[in-house]
Amino acid sequence: MVSRVIPVDVFDLVIIGATGDLATRKILPGLYRRFFDGQMPAGARIIGAARAEIDTEGFRDLARRAIMEHVGAAKRDAVSIDAFLEALVYVPLDATGEAGWDELKALIRPDVVNAFYFSVAPSLFGDLTERLHSYGIATPETRIVVEKPFGRDLASAKALNATLAAHFREQQIYRIDHYLGKETVQNLMAVRFANILFEPLWNSQYIDHVQITVAETVGVGGRGSYYDKAGAMRDMVQNHMMQLLCLIAMEPPYHFDPDAVRDEKLKVIRALQPVPSSDIVRGQYLGTAGKEPKSGYLEDVEDPNSRTESYVALKVQVANWRWQGTPFYLRTGKRLRARTSEIAIAFKQPPHSIFDDAGGSWPENMLVIRLQPNEGMNLKVMIKEPGPGGMRLVQVPLDMSFAEALGEEGTDIPDAYERLIMDVIRGNQTLFMRGDEVEAAWAWTDPIIAGWEARGDRPQGYDSGSSGPDDALMLMHRDGRRWRNIHG
Ligand code: NAP
Repeated sequence: MVSRVIPVDVFDLVIIGATGDLATRKILPGLYRRFFDGQMPAGARIIGAARAEIDTEGFRDLARRAIMEHVGAAKRDAVSIDAFLEALVYVPLDATGEAGWDELKALIRPDVVNAFYFSVAPSLFGDLTERLHSYGIATPETRIVVEKPFGRDLASAKALNATLAAHFREQQIYRIDHYLGKETVQNLMAVRFANILFEPLWNSQYIDHVQITVAETVGVGGRGSYYDKAGAMRDMVQNHMMQLLCLIAMEPPYHFDPDAVRDEKLKVIRALQPVPSSDIVRGQYLGTAGKEPKSGYLEDVEDPNSRTESYVALKVQVANWRWQGTPFYLRTGKRLRARTSEIAIAFKQPPHSIFDDAGGSWPENMLVIRLQPNEGMNLKVMIKEPGPGGMRLVQVPLDMSFAEALGEEGTDIPDAYERLIMDVIRGNQTLFMRGDEVEAAWAWTDPIIAGWEARGDRPQGYDSGSSGPDDALMLMHRDGRRWRNIHG
């Protein structure tokens, strides 16, 4: 299959916070890969900005190091790297002061696409929007890109939306949830809406339940103080897992158009039922005595009284005609057995078995959509076990790894950030969260967190390297169901 890379329009992309972790680990290496693949057009420019008093050469050195560290060897070619670095410029700038803004304005070309990536703490967004406006840099066409966390509750998300809305229209604001940039996540929409096969079955009549798992093996690491103020519910469920749930549960949009898609996602979030405390399990990982990793969550965040969850599992109900009676089980956590993200759609048993003599009931059909590792899909179907010996049934996977199915192109799936940045330049907001979506997600999340806080619940301890707290297993067992194994 021949890769089709369509260059975007010429742009000036300003990365504010260009010396930080996100810029050096994701944004700059991602832009280089787009350049290498021919998607970044000649004449496009990347303007780095931060307070650090470095010059353009210093910034290019930093970008070169970032590319060497984060881009695979196959694309690290000296000529291409040098050519890419030519497109980089740096301007020292303070978001909260006046330094650098006139210089930035002088650099921006009004006749090309202008985008500003706010790769800084959200507390600086107000200063940035204010100065982009007061220095006459922003135009009605300017795009701004903002990162998570988008608030920590409904009130702060509303305040952040109001800050951005003071100088920018919704059509100019690109709220990144990098899960939406993943190939498989977009494939979820292709599979659902470009095939006739699944959609007739995509409802509570045929789907028994849905499981969404995002498991990490790492602990909180050096992010302990940040993470302890958030927890799994805020860090993962309110944004990434909510987006996955929406893409599975939403009605077909009338067109693959940003607002049509986002309208349908919003309807799903609004249809989410409040979750009773009996349908939620929270956990904190424990250290492993005498073995690595020795430290548990409480040691990692240096607070023996912390009640923040490093794991959460929930049973979620979508109250609408399509999903009445089909629960969505969500779980996410740190220090689990394997690093994996997947969505499993478990179908119901056929209404009547003609194969009673062959063993009665059998495992349900299951469609598993893998986000990582090894993006792909797997449909588990029943067949006859080959050979003589009567009609014995066996379940086999119809396995499609995108890397294998798409050949060379599939082994080189663009990183979510690369795709999303190119969408910003194209002016396509489909894979970005709209302000009302984010607020609706917080409106559902807030009472859950408020309930924990009011009750002073302590999360249940779970062993590092396990599948999570025992109570999470019970969450499904008591419904006569079970989680899929967590494996990489
Ligand atoms: P970081 O490593 O702390 O980098 C922050 C950047 O902002 C630095 O370049 C810093 O450079 C610059 N900066 C700080 N104050 C500034 C000011 N007053 N004016 C101009 N520049 C300023 O943070 P990060 O991890 O890259 O995260 C950036 C944003 O992305 C945050 O909102 C974070 O929540 C979000 N995010 C990050 C990740 C990730 O993987 N890192 C993932 C998801 C979301 P100077 O100090 O030189 O100014």
